Amino acid sequence: MDSNDVQSDLKHVLYSKEEIQQRINELAQQIDKDYEGRDILLVGVLKGAVMVMADLARALHSHITMDWMAVSSYGSGTQSSGVVRILKDLETDLMGKHVLIAEDIIDSGLTLSWLKANLLSRGPASVEICTLLRKPEAAKVDIDVKYVGYDIPNEFVVGYGLDFAEKYRNLDFIGTLAPHVYE
Ligand code: 5GP
Ligand code: MG
Ligand code: MG
Repeated sequence: MDSNDVQSDLKHVLYSKEEIQQRINELAQQIDKDYEGRDILLVGVLKGAVMVMADLARALHSHITMDWMAVSSYGSGTQSSGVVRILKDLETDLMGKHVLIAEDIIDSGLTLSWLKANLLSRGPASVEICTLLRKPEAAKVDIDVKYVGYDIPNEFVVGYGLDFAEKYRNLDFIGTLAPHVYE
């Protein structure tokens, strides 16, 4: 492994490819059951949710359509502020649709709580959230997340869609970074 190898930037693996696939299959089974054959509009938030979307969509047996949003959270540094700007909006009219937001991670929960309220204002039949990861801070915001893959400790993770300076999104597992990467 040379120093240019992505793997050498990682400290440890939190969830392997196999564990993630297994958990997503379980979530998909639950979702299929809950929606009982009703059509679902999966909404992915770019760019972090691409892997979750791709795998969740393929694990579901319900009829689904997919749409994407890109948002940017105003705020200083890494702390999200809850003030959100839409960079790319949905192309789908949400009226009467069952919307399921697919997310990679919920940290403060501020972005998602804004997003859920925004989507609810467009007249859908329902809006629920499915996230692969959730951090402890999220519990402080009054946001109902119906489907959670894993509750994780408050540390910075990358992989499976999650980036550090736009890198590491392509890893098929979730891990933590070695200190030499960010120090
Ligand atoms: P929040 O829930 O704080 O409003 O924002 C969540 C967003 O912050 C995620 O969509 C993600 O872009 C970023 N984020 C939060 N925690 C982490 C983490 O541990 N790793 C990475 N790569 N991004 C994170
Ligand atoms: Mg995200
Ligand atoms: Mg990011």
